[in-house]
Amino acid sequence: MRILAATARFSESYTEARQKFLAAADDARLAVESLPNSGAQGPGGEPLLTDVVRAGPTEAERIVVATSGVHGVEGFCGSACQIGFLREGLWRALPSGTALLLVHALNPYGFAHLRRVNEDNVDVNRNFIEHDRPAPANPAYEEIHPFLVPSDWDGPARASADEGIGALAAARGLSYVQAAVQGGQYAHPDGLFYGGSRPVWSNLTWRSIIRRHLAASRRVAFIDLHSGLGPYGQGEAIFRGRFAGDGYARARGWYGADVTSSEDGSSTSAVIVGNMATALDQELAGAELTSITLEFGTVSGPEVLNAMRGDHWLHLHGDPASAGGPAIKAAIRDAFYCDRDDWKDRVWERAAEILTRAFAGIGAG
Ligand SMILES: [Zn+2]
Repeated sequence: MRILAATARFSESYTEARQKFLAAADDARLAVESLPNSGAQGPGGEPLLTDVVRAGPTEAERIVVATSGVHGVEGFCGSACQIGFLREGLWRALPSGTALLLVHALNPYGFAHLRRVNEDNVDVNRNFIEHDRPAPANPAYEEIHPFLVPSDWDGPARASADEGIGALAAARGLSYVQAAVQGGQYAHPDGLFYGGSRPVWSNLTWRSIIRRHLAASRRVAFIDLHSGLGPYGQGEAIFRGRFAGDGYARARGWYGADVTSSEDGSSTSAVIVGNMATALDQELAGAELTSITLEFGTVSGPEVLNAMRGDHWLHLHGDPASAGGPAIKAAIRDAFYCDRDDWKDRVWERAAEILTRAFAGIGAG
């Protein structure tokens, strides 16, 4: 196994990350499926694609799936983990009869434009609800929404909005405010964590990948790579899927007793409806699913929230090409990607540990 410097796995842009991922797949002689998003393009007009690499048998009954960049800018972290899985030969340790599927940059627009949302201002990881039914309500978000994206970012509207958020946090607690925002909402298309009113491109793409690659699978280990929540450099494994089923216990058996759950309150993450694991539950009713989010901490919660507020303000009321644009874009990138060797090393070590445990778990029993 080759040991790479952290910089070999991480990239400075979506395009560089994609090139590194494709080159790593090519060197491993693994086929790539590239799925273009024809409804959007990068900031320089470059094409945007989600790339899928598969290793192992075609009709495998057991499959480990690792996805990156459903939250766009979080792809700096997830892409690096996937490039490491390939470059450092971890994929060669697949148990027999087991496949590995790597889905790179599921929201390529957000990755390329340094946004957490997609081209429709939608949080893709809140979009997997049943859109023909009434959308889930989030009354707590309604209290905060007026303060999240002020009409100016450096003037009186911002100052007044910050006061509003501060007052809510003082009255109800910071965790109340964070959970209210993170929980997702379906009422304000211009707001934060908006789950959309119909299935977006990344949703349809993820479902098509599931149908093409997982239809024959009876055991599925799903690892969705994220960043921006929790202590610096720490990789929290958060159970996703049906809390009432046996998946949580199995995830703890595979990954350790420190696997958390939003449903029982042990996680730093709020309960999230319409997340990517929901699509697996819906599409693969008869399969055994063990789904986690692997969430890497970066900077403090308020810093992450303010970076997202600034980014939403820039795209709704400002102009990314204006003089103030680069600082706001740098802030959101830094909120989800710590460009430091110690952070990169901790991310990689934890990601490699989780993949190794997934192989052991799915291969046993
Ligand atoms: Zn995320």
